Amino acid sequence: MATATPSCPDIAAIVRQVIAELRTAPPPAAAPAAVGGPVAGPSSAGRHGIFTSVDEAVSAATEAFHQLERSGIAGRKKAIEHIRRISIDDAVELGTMEFHETRIGRLEHKIEKLQTLGARSPGVEFITSEVFSGDHGLAVIEHAPFGVIGAITPVTHSLPTITGNAVSMIAGGNTVVVNPHPSGKKVAAEGVRRFNAAIHRDIGIDNLVCLVAEPTLDTAAALFNHRGVKLICVTGGPAVAKAALQSSKRAIVAGPGNPPVVVDQTADLDRAARSIIQGAAYDNNLLCIAEKQVFVVAEVFDKMLAAMERAGALRLTGAQVDALTAKAIVMAGEGAHRHPVPCKDLLGQDAAVLARAAGANPREGLELVFGETAPDNPFVPTEQMMPFLPFVRCRDVDEAIHRAHESEHGFRHTAIIHSHDVRAMTKMGRLLDTTLFVKNGPSVAGLGLGGEGYLSFSIATPTGEGVTTPLTFTRQRRCTLVDDLRILGSAEALT
Ligand code: NAD
Repeated sequence: MATATPSCPDIAAIVRQVIAELRTAPPPAAAPAAVGGPVAGPSSAGRHGIFTSVDEAVSAATEAFHQLERSGIAGRKKAIEHIRRISIDDAVELGTMEFHETRIGRLEHKIEKLQTLGARSPGVEFITSEVFSGDHGLAVIEHAPFGVIGAITPVTHSLPTITGNAVSMIAGGNTVVVNPHPSGKKVAAEGVRRFNAAIHRDIGIDNLVCLVAEPTLDTAAALFNHRGVKLICVTGGPAVAKAALQSSKRAIVAGPGNPPVVVDQTADLDRAARSIIQGAAYDNNLLCIAEKQVFVVAEVFDKMLAAMERAGALRLTGAQVDALTAKAIVMAGEGAHRHPVPCKDLLGQDAAVLARAAGANPREGLELVFGETAPDNPFVPTEQMMPFLPFVRCRDVDEAIHRAHESEHGFRHTAIIHSHDVRAMTKMGRLLDTTLFVKNGPSVAGLGLGGEGYLSFSIATPTGEGVTTPLTFTRQRRCTLVDDLRILGSAEALT
């Protein structure tokens, strides 16, 4: 049916009527004014980042991105302050929630990880500009945001990874939609809800961090392929790393590791033992950087095992190691893809649980179990994520480095050496070529915990960005001013 075109008097009447209705309409529900001013279109404010649909989450994160753009560095700083404060102040409550939901790791470390990521994740201080000035004016290189980032997070540190990602991504001016691991989705949602509620109350921007509340592989794929997502950042094991590397979007990939340790005859064995226990026992060996297998030169092998016992670890007999291996490492996959994986029932469990599974009697407060194994014991090549370490006897440091290289699978993630021989350090560093290489300390020192440097729980290995910072989540933008601000040529040119 054709519609009649209204005449000029009709239009005037319609305008009068609309104005009259606007004057009598009730005011809209009170909402905090966004720092950057109101946004056109339907708003998702009030959802505090929790969505069941990827489309809705990306749309809300896009709206939040435009508000953040207008809020400047000051707005980013305020938002980040809330994420830091909640991660630190609510660490006991949220850490306990994560511990009960995921059922892996150690309660005290779940709490500590939240506090650490809240306090130490790199923020806006990393966003600086570079300037080139010369005869022809100047060029300013700025670090601009990508927009909405799609993030995948692991079960091993569900909320701490979100804290770290959110701080660095927002510092770079971005917003983020997270597809969390299904086994850590509740604590992830609770943290995200608290972050957004506080930020919204303070600066009027909601949904800077969005979360898919019922995450699946399908929602992950939808996030990877969404037109509104400008960059992907995944933190996880081999399957998700492969999926991200094959995606059509640019991806920051924090992939798996299997960090080997080499101990040679020049090492301080007691210091090495204390370091190995500190790194490998942390959160029951869930960290991707944590010591997973140890190669010791024969000359000091027995002394090193004695040092481990002196430092408090429990040594298993050969029969006990065999019993534990049979229970802890199982086969997965089909045909050529068949490979050993950690058994879910023992992954991230306490050292006492592993000791009992092996048939040993643990003492109160035991942190780590260890034992001598052959180089082909499945604990050696498997990223087992348990507080048990296989120790392999090697003829000399060359063999130890060679075996360490083999066990790392070319992930180029993390390696550790205890030695005072610079040539051995250099040889291992060159051969393994890992993103983190720690000498004479625990693996966590590689993230600045007891060592130097900054920290992140997303260490981009195959894509090469390393320990991620806000700059990882920015793109370079160049602003060029030609000839002006320069006095060249004759004085008359100025008049
Ligand atoms: P995981 O690989 O099982 O899961 C990680 C995330 O990826 C989860 O959210 C999961 O749902 C998702 N996922 C899995 N397969 C996927 C696919 N095909 N497509 C899309 N999403 C997929 O790992 P996890 O057990 O949660 O965490 C432990 C692993 O993560 C270890 O391998 C560890 O080394 C690695 N990790 C790496 C870093 C790093 O910084 N490099 C940090 C933490 C953990």
